Amino acid sequence: MKFKLSILITLAVFMITAQGCGSLSGGKQTGIGYLLDQASGARQAQQVQEIQQIQQIQPESLKVSVPAAADPSKEQAEGQQTPRIQKKVYLTFDDGPDNINTPMVLDILDSYGIKATFFVIGTNVEKKPALLKDIIERGHALGNHTYNHRYDDIYAGVNGFLQSIRINEELIFRIVGQRPKLVRDPGGEVRNNEVFKQALTAAGYRLVNWDVDSYDSRKNSAETDIVENIRRQISKERLWPGMIVLLHDGKGHMNTVRALPTVIEMLKNEGFEFEVVK
Ligand SMILES: [Zn+2]
Repeated sequence: MKFKLSILITLAVFMITAQGCGSLSGGKQTGIGYLLDQASGARQAQQVQEIQQIQQIQPESLKVSVPAAADPSKEQAEGQQTPRIQKKVYLTFDDGPDNINTPMVLDILDSYGIKATFFVIGTNVEKKPALLKDIIERGHALGNHTYNHRYDDIYAGVNGFLQSIRINEELIFRIVGQRPKLVRDPGGEVRNNEVFKQALTAAGYRLVNWDVDSYDSRKNSAETDIVENIRRQISKERLWPGMIVLLHDGKGHMNTVRALPTVIEMLKNEGFEFEVVK
């Protein structure tokens, strides 16, 4: 009896091992049938039953553990249930063109294959007409940032403001043959002024504010500050379908130029596509 039981255990161990080597379908019935023939009594039969249960459980547990995470069709189906927001960003550069910063900004944008919008000041356009041409020839968009950017002049009254816009427009037209209808008001002063806003609209212009301020116009704004200011603001999901970022390429904004590659890479990594304001 003891001898038979030891044969039974040896065979059972052999069978489990064989199953682990992948011979389950071939060895299962033959092995168990042989054991049943050899074993006698209720105890041995019970042991055989337990072995059968082990044999059944192991493959089952394998089946359960494998599929869930590795099924690509399921992942695709889940992806379709949650439509992705198309993230768009509009980089805008104010106060140029500047003979140092504007060419560097243009080169950086080219190196990433990105287009931006430049809100130029008339007095700078007069000084650097070739840079204005360069902006257009490299596929970027132009906006009007008044003739002289002098608050006491442009904000004294609505007529003076419109006059400053028109003088700049004429300058731009003579150089590149375009009359940009996009207007950015220096300092965003017109944002809450209905009289100025209505006058602009009536004259056929479109006021373009911003959603994200890089704060690069603050004194001593370091390169890292500019990057972090933008990083902090772009988490707002409501901005993602069309986010306008305020930057400057005017005189003295070297830190904006230094921060620009990091800003672009950060926005790319966040899944934004770059477009010009229209
Ligand atoms: Zn400005």
